[in-house]
Amino acid sequence: MTDEPALPCADKLAFDTPEAAEATGTVSEWRYGSKLKVYRCRYCHLYHLSSNPE
Ligand SMILES: [Zn+2]
Repeated sequence: MTDEPALPCADKLAFDTPEAAEATGTVSEWRYGSKLKVYRCRYCHLYHLSSNPE
């Protein structure tokens, strides 16, 4: 058992580097036609992709 707190981003893909996130975002852009934005997560301190324009 772990007692890690549930993060709001627990169900998201997480990347160690922005480059890795960018690479996956580019593939997703080809596949789904939606531009994904890379951002650093303040909860897990890794990088995620967001499809929500701000
Ligand atoms: Zn996160």
